[in-house]
Amino acid sequence: MAQGRKNVFSCAANFLRGKKCVFCGSFKVSKTGRGYVRCRHMGCGKQKSLKRIRMEIAIVQGFYQQQPAYRLSHDLGCDYKTITRVYQKIREAIYHVAELEGGKLNGEVEMDESYFGGRRKGKRGRGASGKNIVFGLLEREGKVYTRVVEHVSKEELMAIIRKKTRKGTVYYTDTFRSYNSLHRFGKHHRLNHRKAFAYKGKNHINGIEGFWSFAKHILYNYRGVSKYHFPMYLKEVEYRFNHRNDNLFKLFISIYFGYVSP
Ligand SMILES: [Zn+2]
Repeated sequence: MAQGRKNVFSCAANFLRGKKCVFCGSFKVSKTGRGYVRCRHMGCGKQKSLKRIRMEIAIVQGFYQQQPAYRLSHDLGCDYKTITRVYQKIREAIYHVAELEGGKLNGEVEMDESYFGGRRKGKRGRGASGKNIVFGLLEREGKVYTRVVEHVSKEELMAIIRKKTRKGTVYYTDTFRSYNSLHRFGKHHRLNHRKAFAYKGKNHINGIEGFWSFAKHILYNYRGVSKYHFPMYLKEVEYRFNHRNDNLFKLFISIYFGYVSP
């Protein structure tokens, strides 16, 4: 990330001093005798104790820095379960924000599937049991879209491709058979992993492969996540990747106070 540490967190300074409303960003706030910050902006009018605001911002900061909940609870002197609950709620909100903001992908699109979690024993790769199968589409030099899939069937993948890309798109995939009818939808380049010479010039899926390693690096900290919760963790990773050049902490703050905080 290009931004310095100080720069990243400076956006919270006015919130922490009780000079700016955490909900609407208005500077028309006043402090009450009981240590509450009250917003005087029309249509907002919310209030919250400054102590509480500071605690919640510290938790969002911990989430941004991917601090384990137990460590953060120790650092903040706050209940472990509270932190876990807040983390989970931020993740849910990110899930919805990510799904809402993602339109169709533009330009050239790389696609691939990857396998997360599960035990190493038994079948690996396609058809492996107990693993989370993820289908990913990446717009070159742009954003990624991921989806947990059940069987990696042609129907399943094509439905997502139709939803997330436009007809006539240039696609890059490997030689997996579920992509067999893709040429009817756009221009399809297939790469054979076994043939090194296939990777030439634009003929590669390095972008989506780069995303898989980014995702695995982050999700390694969350190993042991249940199948039920996995899609939420995955969307968090997608969101972090798609906003890698933005101030993520600032975005998390607005998601938290926009959707989670009462
Ligand atoms: Zn306000």
